[in-house]
Amino acid sequence: MPESPEELYARTKDALRMPPVEEWEQWPFEGALRPRELRPPEERERPRFGEGGVDCGRCAAPDSEYIWTNETWRLWPFTPPNGLPLVVLLEPRQHYAEPGDLPDELAADLGVMLARIEREIRALGNIGRVHVCRWGDGGEHLHWWFMARPARIPQLIGSFAAIWDDILPPVPEEVRQADLARLAAALG
Ligand SMILES: [Zn+2]
Repeated sequence: MPESPEELYARTKDALRMPPVEEWEQWPFEGALRPRELRPPEERERPRFGEGGVDCGRCAAPDSEYIWTNETWRLWPFTPPNGLPLVVLLEPRQHYAEPGDLPDELAADLGVMLARIEREIRALGNIGRVHVCRWGDGGEHLHWWFMARPARIPQLIGSFAAIWDDILPPVPEEVRQADLARLAAALG
């Protein structure tokens, strides 16, 4: 079993390491840094937005907020501004919290959807990679991120693309809207 949060905290709080970020091509920042102090564990997990489906903004959102829907899934164009070429989120219509909560049939369909959407975003052109990500620590309603990074800019590869998304100025809105429309059309 993994350590308890208290065990982990006690072991690590005075032994934090500083990775050599200045040597990492993808590190987005300049200047000296030090790790932030690790705060002790809390009594319980902080509640997420829409916990248990109560006051869940994603359950309440109308289909008109999405660029593509079917009877099971909805694709949400994350609220701009985005610096990466395209960022969208896939959600089940019904409120599920974790991937492991999905019934097998829905989980199998999810695999097909992840592949379809990744393929169609990549087909928009000038995309180096589509990162397909799931964190789930903000809103409870299950959602998968598709973060498309541009091709041929090595500094923007890897997991820091999610941070570069906030650093790069937003994609021109007319370009973004045209790409979202092409993606929706490709998904049928
Ligand atoms: Zn929900």
